[in-house]
Amino acid sequence: MNPKNPTQPTLKKVFQVNDIIDILLNEGHITSKQVEHAKRVASKLEIQKPLLVILKELKFITDDNIKSALANSDIEMPIESILLEMGIVSDKDIKIAKETVLNDNAKRSIEKVLVDSKLVVESELFEILSLKAKIPYVSIEQIEIDQTLFSNAQVKWYETIKVIPLKKEKEGIRVGFVDIPDRKRIEAAQKAFGVKIIPSIISEDSFKKALNKGSQKLTRAQSSNLEENATIQLVNKIILAAISRDASDIHIEPLAESLRVRFRQDGVLMIYEQYPKQIISALTNRIKVLCNVDITEKRRHQGGRIYYQHNGEELDLRVSFYVTVYGEKIVIRLLNRKGLLLKLDDIGMSKHMLTRFKEDALYQPSGVILITGPTGSGKTTTVYSCIQNINTPQTSIITAEEPVEYIIDGISQCSINPKISLTFEETLRHIVRQDPDVIVIGEIRDNFSAEVAVQAALTGHKVLTTFHTEDSIGGLIRLLKMNIEAFLISSTVVSVLAQRLLRKICPKCKVAYKPSSHEIQRIGYSAKDLDEFSFAIGKGCPYCQHSGYKGRVGIFELLVLDESVRNAIMEQKTSQEIRRISIDSTGLVTLLEDGIYKAAAGITTIEEVFRCLPRLQKPRPFYEIKQLLGGR
Ligand SMILES: [Zn+2]
Repeated sequence: MNPKNPTQPTLKKVFQVNDIIDILLNEGHITSKQVEHAKRVASKLEIQKPLLVILKELKFITDDNIKSALANSDIEMPIESILLEMGIVSDKDIKIAKETVLNDNAKRSIEKVLVDSKLVVESELFEILSLKAKIPYVSIEQIEIDQTLFSNAQVKWYETIKVIPLKKEKEGIRVGFVDIPDRKRIEAAQKAFGVKIIPSIISEDSFKKALNKGSQKLTRAQSSNLEENATIQLVNKIILAAISRDASDIHIEPLAESLRVRFRQDGVLMIYEQYPKQIISALTNRIKVLCNVDITEKRRHQGGRIYYQHNGEELDLRVSFYVTVYGEKIVIRLLNRKGLLLKLDDIGMSKHMLTRFKEDALYQPSGVILITGPTGSGKTTTVYSCIQNINTPQTSIITAEEPVEYIIDGISQCSINPKISLTFEETLRHIVRQDPDVIVIGEIRDNFSAEVAVQAALTGHKVLTTFHTEDSIGGLIRLLKMNIEAFLISSTVVSVLAQRLLRKICPKCKVAYKPSSHEIQRIGYSAKDLDEFSFAIGKGCPYCQHSGYKGRVGIFELLVLDESVRNAIMEQKTSQEIRRISIDSTGLVTLLEDGIYKAAAGITTIEEVFRCLPRLQKPRPFYEIKQLLGGR
């Protein structure tokens, strides 16, 4: 490319037609004999004619020969001289054009004047210009312009620089300049389309046509950009609102006529907002982009993750897309909330239970501690509270989790990732070789993980794990059903802790509540026990979004295995029998009893107890429970 500035005054330059003739000679297009001949003809002519024209008339050369000579030369020659030499314009034409330029105060270039006054065909002029600048001339009618490239700049910019993008090529983006570009215009184009632009020359006419077409596309693209921005902001707004409300999940649900967004707050779904259904696809696409899942897939369930930066904290959002009749329902689970990491003393265990759990289970040198409950019952939080509690420089703690939900300093946490074949099985095979004191297995999900837990405990390790069962006895029974020898279970399992999370009464609108006799009966007591209770409810206020609840408290059922329970397991007794033995001999307080106890203390409501806790048997007299639990 010729970087020489074409706006330099070229008119003063000496005419160098001989250079073109030299090149024609060098390239073998003409012989020196032919040149001599032409010169003789020229000298005999009454009206002077350019030598090149004579050579052409003599059919010694063609226009193409001249063009190729121009393309191969570094000749700095005014365009009008070339046009004159090639016989395209006459002396007179140039004289008129120059005068017009002067009268015009040089607002137009001489080339433009020549084109405007139809003395030169524009495409021919540009072809020669491009040869001269060694930039190819392209006719845009013959190429398919990539309209998407127009989004790189604004219409105004295109009009100023007089350039348009044409198409992507291997070496870069081909752009079309009107006229030979100077360095400034080339640099401007490089800023917009990348350093590796491939310049071409296009005619002004085709520039206008192409820009017109491209700008329509551009306007549409910009308006869709606006929509995109609005969607990005909406997704952000929803996530931020969920975070600020301490929600654990966001449900984005397409319904027949609208899109509903709900948050799970303190374990219960609450409507956040309802949107017109028109936004469904944009919103879904945006979330899919964030998760890096297939945008085009709308007929299959998908799952992904979003790493979301918030106040310097990185949140790991688990996203699930579930295909429903009205479109994809999206559930975003918010993990990694630092605020949810609780001290063991603060998870809600009553005084006596906490002491017992620590001394007879957690601080035992070896054995399996099972934490059970359904999804969302706070098992993971309890596991982390336990880990934190026993995390000392003298202890080696190693985990296999799916996924790691909180990072705790000083322990070796492994996040299972089946996508890269880092499976649970594979991890568990390696975990014992790491010389651990405490092994945390995220969840017992099959025979294999159950066996690993039991084996590790047999070889002197402390094992913390979770299990999906209703209550503590259920945990033992399910282990028995997993083909693990009863004696192995009875000799390795130290303790089973079943749990639930119940909503706490909002402290800002809490009032005393006198339950009806029916309610009292329902929980298994009589009206004469009422004196013992100080039930309460939340009236509802802005602080709790009029739900009457704020935050949650753990409800626990702690089974510490003793001789009689171990024997019951060995003898493979029924769950009812094991339960009865546990209550009688170990002082097991059931989930229901712990719930009633916390409702009676005005921490949660009777309603919550009914809603969340299994009622497997009648609770013991209240004073007994009180004695066993010993206050908070
Ligand atoms: Zn309130």
